[in-house]
Amino acid sequence: MAAVYNKPGEISIKLQEIPTPEPGPRQVLVKITHSGVCHSDLGIMTNAWKWLPEPVPAHQVGGHEGVGVVVKTGPDCEDSKVKVGDRVGIKYFADVCLDCTPCKLGHEGFCFNGHVSGYLTPGTFQQYVVSSAYYVTPIPNGLPSEIAAPMLCGGLTVYSALKKTNTKPGDWVVISGAGGGLGHLACQIGSRGMGLKILGIDTQEKEVFVREECGVEAFVALDKYPRGPAGDKEITAAVKSVTEGGEGVAAVVVCTAANAAYTQALDFLRFGGTLVCVGIPEGTAVPIQKADPTSIMLGLWHITASSVGSQQEAIETLELTARGVVTPKFTMHRIEELEDLFKRMERGQIMGRTVVTLN
Ligand SMILES: [Zn+2]
Ligand SMILES: [Zn+2]
Repeated sequence: MAAVYNKPGEISIKLQEIPTPEPGPRQVLVKITHSGVCHSDLGIMTNAWKWLPEPVPAHQVGGHEGVGVVVKTGPDCEDSKVKVGDRVGIKYFADVCLDCTPCKLGHEGFCFNGHVSGYLTPGTFQQYVVSSAYYVTPIPNGLPSEIAAPMLCGGLTVYSALKKTNTKPGDWVVISGAGGGLGHLACQIGSRGMGLKILGIDTQEKEVFVREECGVEAFVALDKYPRGPAGDKEITAAVKSVTEGGEGVAAVVVCTAANAAYTQALDFLRFGGTLVCVGIPEGTAVPIQKADPTSIMLGLWHITASSVGSQQEAIETLELTARGVVTPKFTMHRIEELEDLFKRMERGQIMGRTVVTLN
């Protein structure tokens, strides 16, 4: 059984039976039990990501946060560590080339030749999927599949982003969009996993959740301030007042897709601070204001980004999760609810992540 995009460009999903694929050379057949639902799936299905080379094909199967059990191996898998019966995860990149410049530098999340699961390669919203025996990620024993699934894209992306902040334990880091699907994982990994002091920024309704469940030590509620330059100034002052000497934070990880969050991020940074771009603004991209050469020079700012992460970072993310450092907030649904979940996602009505089951 597979959930296919029967009308790409719109939110429309049809459940249908399709032939079970056969694993080719260096591939395994995985019986998927759980799949997380990522905002990127929505972008691919509706062709909202204009920078992709072509629209998603009709009747494609989406999904890239899949967890399941290996039920068959193809030819030439002898030196793979993965065996029949193992639980494995399939990530945003179902496979990478390991030969291009990003891959050789250990940044496979930026692979020039990667196969995106659920775009031109059938994804994890189906019961049986073939995937690379060398790029699936082993799931640690004791880590429930429904918890592992949302970590394979959302968790991995923010873990990789936090590693790019050039911070040390005790440094202040701002997470913009702290209560969101990506943001709440960033708060947990940053505070409990990396010993950072996290300042969350989001709307007031998220404060209790991120303080009590995500390890956030300070919080700035955006909706307490007037919109516009005067309010922005007050928000910046509120952020800086938390830091030692009012100098600003060591890093800002922007987990929302709002251009405004990027513009303001540079104001929060201390000397030598780092901005990590994670949330991808939809539609026409607006340059980050204030990122002019003089300001960058005077502040010695670093501007970088995270796009998913590497296999090694995926393994580390799942280890942190298995230890209980990360407790993703998610709800479980049947695959039959997938179309409705995407509609709710488009309306911004999803709290945390959603996971569909395929048993
Ligand atoms: Zn994703
Ligand atoms: Zn590559």
